[in-house]
Amino acid sequence: MNRVTVIGSGNAFNTDGRAHACYLVESDGGSNSDETTSVLLDCGATSLYRLQQEGVDLNGIDAVLLTHFHGDHFAGLPFILLEMSLVCGRKRPLHIFGPPGVAAACQAIVDLCYPGFRFAFDIEYAVLDARSPENAQTQQHGRPQSFQNFTIIPYPIEHRPESTGYRLVAKGAANSDGGSFAFSGDALFDQQLIALVDGVDLALVELTMQEQWDPPVAHLALDEVRARGRELKAKRLVYTHITDDLARQVVAEGLGEVASDGLTLNF
Ligand SMILES: [Zn+2]
Repeated sequence: MNRVTVIGSGNAFNTDGRAHACYLVESDGGSNSDETTSVLLDCGATSLYRLQQEGVDLNGIDAVLLTHFHGDHFAGLPFILLEMSLVCGRKRPLHIFGPPGVAAACQAIVDLCYPGFRFAFDIEYAVLDARSPENAQTQQHGRPQSFQNFTIIPYPIEHRPESTGYRLVAKGAANSDGGSFAFSGDALFDQQLIALVDGVDLALVELTMQEQWDPPVAHLALDEVRARGRELKAKRLVYTHITDDLARQVVAEGLGEVASDGLTLNF
């Protein structure tokens, strides 16, 4: 079982009542494992509210994985940590993975929201550097990180300086590769995005605007998807970070699938 639950499929403005970016990615590691790994991929400001609506057990979350440090992608973290500490009685460590600066960014937003609060569990930060010099010449991505039932591979993405897209490759039976999943975070439509999603079983890619601006901003626009969407060669492509109006057009024109809050996708 490899599964993504869309907790929030919306943009920064919660247009059409869609929640901020947040995705629960789970894998049982194939038939040889009885332990499920649960990774929360981005956690925008509305995430705890939506996780409660979906009935997600926060004690079951093993790690948080962040694409960049905009509020619609990580400002829900203080509330999730507070819930884990005060309500769930969490004692085991929580892993937080993200681009360089992840520990400082997370500590800063937690300190602003709840100054001096001490959580009842340890947070173990790890940097996934998609742009590390040793890989820049030879690879399109940074060093893969093995985490329980997943291998997490960071890809550089053009949006914010730290922006990182991820591939999560689930472990299959007998330690073979299982399904693969990619998430863009927020992104410019360029060769780096194309490399991130190339050949994966399932990709979630942002789509924010109707038309690209001049000069371009680092978000996908529907006119680009019409012109270049076929360059995104995932086996299954689902657009997210979306509005109802964009979603209707994507489906009506057969450009791909669209996410909605609460949708589950297997990979
Ligand atoms: Zn965003």
